[in-house]
Amino acid sequence: MSHFKAPPKKNLGQHFLTDRRYIDMIVLAVDPQPGDRLVEIGPGQGAITFPLLRRHGELTVIEFDRDLITPLMEASEGVGRLTVIHKDVLQVDFSKLAADDGQHHGRQIRLVGNLPYNISSPILFHALEHAAAVRDMHFMLQKEVVDRMAAGPGSKVFGRLSVMLQAYCTVTSLFDVPPGAFRPPPKVDSAVVRLVPLPSAEVGISDPALFERVVRDAFGQRRKTLRNALQQVCSGADIEAAGLRPDARAEQLEVAEFKHLANHLAALPP
Ligand code: SAM
Repeated sequence: MSHFKAPPKKNLGQHFLTDRRYIDMIVLAVDPQPGDRLVEIGPGQGAITFPLLRRHGELTVIEFDRDLITPLMEASEGVGRLTVIHKDVLQVDFSKLAADDGQHHGRQIRLVGNLPYNISSPILFHALEHAAAVRDMHFMLQKEVVDRMAAGPGSKVFGRLSVMLQAYCTVTSLFDVPPGAFRPPPKVDSAVVRLVPLPSAEVGISDPALFERVVRDAFGQRRKTLRNALQQVCSGADIEAAGLRPDARAEQLEVAEFKHLANHLAALPP
């Protein structure tokens, strides 16, 4: 008999994955190895949780919906060691979570989740804030968001999200998932993406706040040239001194060029 009785809650983005093929594909993509610290965001009714738990023996989950906490604990009996954190994931300090675990002290966590789509971007940026504590992430998201995350210069969907994520992570779109794989089906197509944070020495951004500002302003005025879009941040001469064309548009720039420009500006005298 199922432990889960409450109907899906729309306000918590509850679309439960029911198609076994995609569940297996996610577990295969994560490919847990002995000693890995797996943390799932939004386990829901356990579609991904229990296959991972059966395979790995232990798992930590973070779930906001109080109606799911006891059923998750009950359903885990005899399957493996499930730690349930009843909290809003945005309030969970991943660095502390990685450091706190008694058994695997200080080991980086591996995040997994079929995310609530209404707060997927805040969750992504929250995880990036704790990038040093995170080894990798496997997330189900709206396909449209994954396309934007993985896009490169020249693509119509290359934008702020692409640059901000690719500046800090390797982003790989793995596979698409149709609405019919969920209950209830979402209105949009979904996709699974892998994010691997770059070692901090490889990120190469001297002033993260300035970098974010440059990227935001550059794409804020997508159709404008860099010279015009970045008026509040720098002059055309500064852009030229950084080796870029002031009449180029943000969508034509490589991620490395955004980094280079922001670092050049950060090094200018105040
Ligand atoms: N993993 C399950 C599956 O694949 O069937 C459920 C996925 S469902 C799309 C998203 C889950 O995230 C729901 O269980 C929902 O209750 C949970 N959730 C929503 N907002 C949350 C938050 N702020 N913090 C933690 N979990 C949240």
